[in-house]
Amino acid sequence: MKHTELDQLKRPLRDLRISVTDRCNFRCRYCMPEEIFGSNYPFLQNDKILSFDEIEKLSRMFVNLGVKKLRITGGEPLLRKNLPELIERLNKIEGVEDIGLTTNGSLLKKFSCDLFKAGLTRVTVSLDSLDEESFASLNGNRGKVKTVLEGIQAASDAGMEVKVNMVVQKGKNEQDIIPMAKYFKERNHILRFIEYMDVGNVNGWRLNEVVSKKEILNTIHNVLPLEPIEANYPGEVATRYRYLNSNQEVGIISSVTETFCSSCTRARISAEGKFYTCLFATQGYDLRELIRSRNSDKEITDKISSIWQNRLDRYSEGRSNQTKTHSKKIEMSHIGG
Ligand code: SAM
Ligand code: SF4
Ligand code: SF4
Repeated sequence: MKHTELDQLKRPLRDLRISVTDRCNFRCRYCMPEEIFGSNYPFLQNDKILSFDEIEKLSRMFVNLGVKKLRITGGEPLLRKNLPELIERLNKIEGVEDIGLTTNGSLLKKFSCDLFKAGLTRVTVSLDSLDEESFASLNGNRGKVKTVLEGIQAASDAGMEVKVNMVVQKGKNEQDIIPMAKYFKERNHILRFIEYMDVGNVNGWRLNEVVSKKEILNTIHNVLPLEPIEANYPGEVATRYRYLNSNQEVGIISSVTETFCSSCTRARISAEGKFYTCLFATQGYDLRELIRSRNSDKEITDKISSIWQNRLDRYSEGRSNQTKTHSKKIEMSHIGG
């Protein structure tokens, strides 16, 4: 029986983000800085990450508790072997209305057709610059703009809707805002600018490195005038705008300066099967252990339900520059954004 689970702040459980690997072929400084995620970094062994059977089983339970949207993420999700098979399996779950994938785009050209055939209709590609040199310095010298753009083209040609996410960091890639806006406006892909967040502990985040929604908006509006448009649905994280005299949309995700905790309906499962009720959580609940020690589906569903019902998270509403002193938050590469 499907029902609506509400947390302590009356927020329903609607979205589930599933990280399918903690590994990545990039080393973006704000997520997996090279000096920490080097060749000796203890990534999870295969038997420690959730299998497709386990992911499917848990997804069914979350869907029974009200989840309608699934997002596959990582690490880099396309590094997970046979990912299209997982998409196909998740797509068959009754009650799943939407599946998305967030990827760095480096392997998208290779997998676009298989992903589309498996039922993926939407993909979000992260790209922080169109300039090869600047992109290389942002991603630890691992990825090329050209490859990511080819991936975007391949996904679009295969029939998928492509959105592009750009994290804006002060002094790093503000100069790329306008070239990115122009490029994706011309190609009719929705570009979303994301405020740099203090996820995890390794990126040395400082509030003064955040380029605010207001600053991003002014930068674009001065060159490409914008008008606001209505949200697609209540609780949508991106504020939407349209370029004047065009139908092309652009969005800004203001996780730092205009928080949206009050409408946050997102649950997350890390690659090793920990359940987190907030992107900034310090503790996750071990669902892998529950599933592997042969608890019944009902027992596991009841546990998930009781964790959600007790949820009080509203981290972003209380964020300040002091945040940098916290030291136990889950890393982005484990939980996937
Ligand atoms: N590897 C995939 C990718 O890069 O799209 C999926 C995982 S990545 C952790 C998910 C998203 O989180 C990416 O769009 C990335 O830019 C974003 N991200 C990572 N660290 C961030 C931070 N500190 N602040 C804001 N966004 C961040
Ligand atoms: Fe990899 Fe994505 Fe993190 Fe960059 S943001 S290091 S691509 S997981
Ligand atoms: Fe949701 Fe936590 Fe982000 Fe607030 S800080 S919007 S509760 S994930």
